[in-house]
Amino acid sequence: MAGESTSECIFCRIASGELGVEFVAESEHAVAFRDLQPQAPTHVLVVPRRHLSALRDLDPDDAALAGELVLLASEVARREGVLGGYRVLTNDGAEAGQTVFHLHFHVLGGRPLGALLA
Ligand code: 5GP
Ligand code: ZN
Repeated sequence: MAGESTSECIFCRIASGELGVEFVAESEHAVAFRDLQPQAPTHVLVVPRRHLSALRDLDPDDAALAGELVLLASEVARREGVLGGYRVLTNDGAEAGQTVFHLHFHVLGGRPLGALLA
């Protein structure tokens, strides 16, 4: 559900600080933390503090938040030292592989990433 922070949502609980997960970076409306099962040496998730289920929940009123998320992703890449090449992606919907239904951007780097599209 858009806009509702729920105690059942793991990323809401992480973003609120409740679980004590360390943030790699943060901004006013977003936080970044390491993926539990990293797919690359750098695998950081950038999430809004507010609950949005996926990219589809962003509306025109969220343009500033969308920009903040993308800027935080690039800040993570800079801090992680992966400016040689990194990838930012989001899975929207189960058919795209989304498993956690709180909007997040993956920031992947630190190894050759290969072709993007299967
Ligand atoms: P998705 O498949 O939805 O695009 O990505 C969800 C990501 O969240 C996966 O890469 C998964 O490893 C990660 N993840 C799932 N649960 C947790 C958690 O409790 N903590 C952290 N840090 N990452 C998680
Ligand atoms: Zn949430």
